Amino acid sequence: MPRLSDRVQTFTDSVIRRMTRISNKYGAINLSQGFPDFDPPKEMLDALAKTAYEGLHQYSITYGAKNFREALARKQGKAIGRTIDPEKEIVVTCGGTEAMMCAMMTICNPGDKVMVFSPFYENYGADAILSGADPIYIPLVPPKYDFDIQLVEDGFKKGAKAIIVCNPSNPCGKVFTREELMAIGELAVKYDGFVVTDEVYEHIVYEPYQHICMASLPGMYEHTITCNSLSKTYSITGWRLGYLIGPEEVVEAAKKVHDFLTVGAAAPLQEAAVTGLNFPDSYYEQLREIYTKKRNCFLEGLDRIGLEHNIPQGTYFVMIDIKKFLDIPWFQGYTDLEFCEWMIQNIGVAAVPGSSFFKEEVNHLIRLHFAREEKTLEEAIQRLGKLQEL
Ligand code: GLN
Repeated sequence: MPRLSDRVQTFTDSVIRRMTRISNKYGAINLSQGFPDFDPPKEMLDALAKTAYEGLHQYSITYGAKNFREALARKQGKAIGRTIDPEKEIVVTCGGTEAMMCAMMTICNPGDKVMVFSPFYENYGADAILSGADPIYIPLVPPKYDFDIQLVEDGFKKGAKAIIVCNPSNPCGKVFTREELMAIGELAVKYDGFVVTDEVYEHIVYEPYQHICMASLPGMYEHTITCNSLSKTYSITGWRLGYLIGPEEVVEAAKKVHDFLTVGAAAPLQEAAVTGLNFPDSYYEQLREIYTKKRNCFLEGLDRIGLEHNIPQGTYFVMIDIKKFLDIPWFQGYTDLEFCEWMIQNIGVAAVPGSSFFKEEVNHLIRLHFAREEKTLEEAIQRLGKLQEL
């Protein structure tokens, strides 16, 4: 009898997180796994310090501390344009990662089909396998990363139960337009399917683009499971605070899945994060400005050293074209993964190979993130400039 399940043979560890380990080993500038190198807002740190002595060291309510859910309902109710019931329509999870997995396990039976845009955030592949779903991939076609809505309709016609929409989209930085979301939404309603959204970059969007919640569109609340997290918005990826919002029937089932997966997110961290959820709108405007500066600084740097890249509309990721390097005889036969490993050791900058995001055979793109202090980004550009000497 095999010692391990079949399921664990069908996916690898996360390449994104593996690149962080390799980067740490060689002391490279880590632009692979996306997380900030700067501190969360001071008010949240003060709240965390205070919380340490307030005795909130035991379990909170499994689906989230009451005041945390209430604050979430207020903030996200504004974005969704509707009153959210904090008792019946929210589950607080351990990061957006658990929210996605919980959503998939709540709606999928083994063999159900789920549509996933490609390139996709690599977790969705494992989410599908672990929940028993079979993915149908819908290409987002570079350079604009647009898609053929007919393929989405074909997917629903083949019986797809849901479509995952990462908006703004990791890794390609696409921000879905209202028209695109409406078109997807209409099909979800027509075929009585779900849209499972991943909106963790909702506040990292560049002018003139605007993030629109799928659940805010007419008739879509009943068909949407909104997955989100506080990680990127408040620079607290290590706090592991995420949540899902959806119609009561779905949320009641998701509460059970979550309860047996993790029981609950860390109680003191939920308490401290309420401070962030109550920030005024100016905080989010400031965040957008901070990331706009970083994006501009990094993209200008890439232009200066002649590396071809896309222009992200949202998120803190940029895709770089490495085809011209892979064409050099010395790199012959290199995969993008091998190129990234070489780059960590020889250039001192870590990236994620594009092939871990694409269903299609794509070997010439790598993903870098720019959630770093500007001086670190400058140093990374200097190092990357050495690629041109090859
Ligand atoms: N979303 C981040 C990325 O794509 C990392 C998230 C994670 O590792 N959980 O790099």
